[in-house]
Amino acid sequence: MFTTATPADTINWHRNHSGKIMDHLEKQILDMLQHQIVARGIDNPKILEAMQRAPRHLFVPPGMLDDAYQDHPIALPEDRTTISQPYMVAYMTDALDCQPADRVLEIGTGSGYQAAVLAHLCQAVYTVERYGSLSENAQRTIQSLGLTNVFFRTGDGCFGWPEQAPFDKIVVTAAVRRIPRPLLDQLADPGILLIPVGDSQIQTLVRIQREGNSFRSTRLIPCVFVPMISNDQDLTQADLVDSVELSSL
Ligand code: SAH
Repeated sequence: MFTTATPADTINWHRNHSGKIMDHLEKQILDMLQHQIVARGIDNPKILEAMQRAPRHLFVPPGMLDDAYQDHPIALPEDRTTISQPYMVAYMTDALDCQPADRVLEIGTGSGYQAAVLAHLCQAVYTVERYGSLSENAQRTIQSLGLTNVFFRTGDGCFGWPEQAPFDKIVVTAAVRRIPRPLLDQLADPGILLIPVGDSQIQTLVRIQREGNSFRSTRLIPCVFVPMISNDQDLTQADLVDSVELSSL
């Protein structure tokens, strides 16, 4: 494993190391890191290394290999599900400020890609997905990477994972109009919750920081996520009963 400071160093390491010709997919990973992630200002070497160690081509559906390192989300084989754009995964990982001792809750396992990146940086990742088929597939992929600190649950992530709470970090990868209250309740103090808030067309990625009993929210960047679904309701259009308006925090 290379412990390099920058992707440029990593690339040079490959060029110089025993003069081997770089594997095609590995070159695509390094290009993606350089052109989509570092070029947009995310240059934390730990995050870049974590993304290198969670090769996105393992997480895309069969037949989409050519798109694995492109700058966009890719549809997964269930309704309203995607693997996020690499930059969004890097951005959210950066905004979570992951620490080695963190226990992280992810809502929306999808392909497992975001969970795998986080697993390289945190103590444990607990991830909840509404589709059992996606959760099982993600579990297989993550196991194939040798990661043993990711825990999977199939169910409605609006309720979090109370048995494992509190969480130092919570990342929601599906969009809502209002914040599900159980997620606020399951946040450690201090803790960070990242969640896309908005309508079905466009949202804002919001960071909510818990300090004691107060919650401070910061609007980060515009984003487009698939909606969170609870009881067959699209939560960018309907309100979950136990939820909080962002402006009331
Ligand atoms: N983090 C994923 C991206 C997933 S897209 C990745 O890296 O690939 C959002 C996911 O949220 C979809 O798989 C969708 O099925 C799931 N989802 C939507 N509503 C949910 C809910 N209430 N509980 C759990 N998962 C939900």
